[in-house]
Amino acid sequence: QKAKESGRNRFELYTAKLDYQSEVVTLENHLRKAIERNELHVYYQPIVNMKTKKIEVIEALLRWNQSNIGFVSPVQFIPLAEETGLIVPITKWLLEQTCIHIKAIHSFAPHMKVGVNISAVHFQQDDFVEQVSHIVKANNVHPRFFKFELTESTIMPNAEESVQKLVQLKQYGFKLAIDDFGTGFSSLSYLHRFPIDVLKIDQSFIRRLSLYSDDATIVSTIIMMAHNLHLAVVAEGVETEQQYAFLKAQRCDFAQGYYISKPMPFNELQSFIQEWDGYIK
Ligand code: C2E
Ligand code: MG
Ligand code: MG
Ligand code: MG
Repeated sequence: QKAKESGRNRFELYTAKLDYQSEVVTLENHLRKAIERNELHVYYQPIVNMKTKKIEVIEALLRWNQSNIGFVSPVQFIPLAEETGLIVPITKWLLEQTCIHIKAIHSFAPHMKVGVNISAVHFQQDDFVEQVSHIVKANNVHPRFFKFELTESTIMPNAEESVQKLVQLKQYGFKLAIDDFGTGFSSLSYLHRFPIDVLKIDQSFIRRLSLYSDDATIVSTIIMMAHNLHLAVVAEGVETEQQYAFLKAQRCDFAQGYYISKPMPFNELQSFIQEWDGYIK
């Protein structure tokens, strides 16, 4: 009786695993064709300077509208793209798109920068720096308009190699940010070794913010520490007026989140930015 039961359970587990694997394979095959089928889109989320209230940066965020399944979240397909190596051609495609878009945006917002997320598997390629500088140059955009977002887990494993690459990127003029700060394992004392410009506090800390929580202490400590290291600070996932007010009181430099705007398609950006600028005048 017992053996039979566990046998059946094992079988069910086995088929569940098969289903899961074939789903992944199907998704992988679709992802391979996603670029040529025009299923990938770049959305943009505004990042606001809390002092001037101006939108200074927009973060590029991938969206995949898969013809059979519909909308697939980057949380699902980015890991798949990383495992299969597809993240490299996808990011190259995205960089080209952002070049075209940022040039168009410069016609009405000449200082706008664009943030681009970089995966570890891509960053660790030997010629990563050459790849990205080539694309930006070929598209006639100055590197200073790009801010690469890397996580602690991307740069920490080979810290020495990472420093070299980051220094090269800085020499080209690219801006650099640590994304999702606080979720990785890097010690604060390590940060000053990396030539970065911006620290993005992970949204999990912002979500739990209330005046008397430990997270409020953590957030204000991160902001102070970052400023002592001459880094600018972005708070991610700002959803409420209270969170915004707290961050402003703590002298956080930039805010990003639904309180300002959700990510939007390129064709909605111009009117959003122009209305926003009109609103704050
Ligand atoms: P991320 O780089 O930390 O991007 C911020 C994520 O937080 C985005 O999710 C954004 O839509 C979401 N977000 C922004 N404000 C709020 C808010 O107020 N509340 C809530 N609940 N969420 C907010 P998204 O677009 O689903 O992307 C998730 C992650 O997928 C990104 O996190 C990034 O790690 C990855 N990703 C997205 N696009 C790319 C890409 O082009 N390349 C790579 N390598 N990764 C990407
Ligand atoms: Mg990011
Ligand atoms: Mg983040
Ligand atoms: Mg993230």
